[in-house]
Amino acid sequence: MGQYQRGRRGGRQDQQPDPKPFAFVRLSNGVDRQHPKGHDRYHDRHITGRIHGTIEALSPIHIGSGIVDLGRDVELIKTAVRTNGNVIIPGSSLKGAIRSVVEAISASCVSKTVRRVRDTFPRNFRYFTECRRRRRERLCIACRMFGAMGFQGNVAIQDASYIDGQIVTKYIPALHRPRRYRTDNRNVPMRKFYMHGEVASGETPIEACEVGSKFRFVVQIDNLTLAEWGLLFTALGHHHDHPFKLKIGGAKPICFGSIDFQVDRVHVDQQTRDQYLNWDVESKSEKTDTQLEEWKRQCITQATNSLIQTDLLMELAKILKYPYDRNCPSGLY
Ligand SMILES: [Zn+2]
Repeated sequence: MGQYQRGRRGGRQDQQPDPKPFAFVRLSNGVDRQHPKGHDRYHDRHITGRIHGTIEALSPIHIGSGIVDLGRDVELIKTAVRTNGNVIIPGSSLKGAIRSVVEAISASCVSKTVRRVRDTFPRNFRYFTECRRRRRERLCIACRMFGAMGFQGNVAIQDASYIDGQIVTKYIPALHRPRRYRTDNRNVPMRKFYMHGEVASGETPIEACEVGSKFRFVVQIDNLTLAEWGLLFTALGHHHDHPFKLKIGGAKPICFGSIDFQVDRVHVDQQTRDQYLNWDVESKSEKTDTQLEEWKRQCITQATNSLIQTDLLMELAKILKYPYDRNCPSGLY
């Protein structure tokens, strides 16, 4: 394969290394911890509801089942995760991707670290000692929204069901998992994000959802403030000044997994709507497109004024910029 440059099987050694497919975001200025709101009742100035939307694959998506199976031509293939025979994007994968953005742009802890570097983070940022062990007493914003040990979280994301597209076999270069953590000039680790780009090809077969594949997603939200809804919309890439696209699943280094979240409708529970929203829709709990856009903007503005650290959002939006203007590395990097 022409694009396969530096793989295990005798790639060319004389070329410049490909650009790295990832970059880093600094830690926030601090971590703000508060008592989370429970699920048992409606709370003042908090809104309960659901976001219904569509996910579209902007590059092929591979979320591995962990099973290697015989493909059509009797070759071993890494298969995609399924439920009842249908390809899905697991809610846990979506939650992980969205949570990592929320963590990066707000005063949150670092939940996803390997044991080896866990203790290199400043104490305040440590999930295991500062959020996890405190149970429900004091949690950072990401732990309040997405959960921590002993607290379920106020945002629940269902498995996204496959509604349209093609399941295909893609051939990718051999990947290795980069293990190094970059630190800033004070020797503090940073958060890593993969960029979008032109997909590279190689010789390893994997099962993937082709570009243009669509999935239906539902996010259930219990008791979030307008600003917290705004933080969530921002994490879906919908900030009006700093938009971006997320990445999901495997083979991210070779630019798989770029996705677009389209918010189709928002449903707000009657109890919270009557008290805290001045929607002018006659007894309807769903908004028209214009109303939805306007409401999202209000939420996002509140988030920007209170929860979001804008310089970090700008750094992240630059890394996750889409459309992209780069190629992904075609071999090991
Ligand atoms: Zn936390």
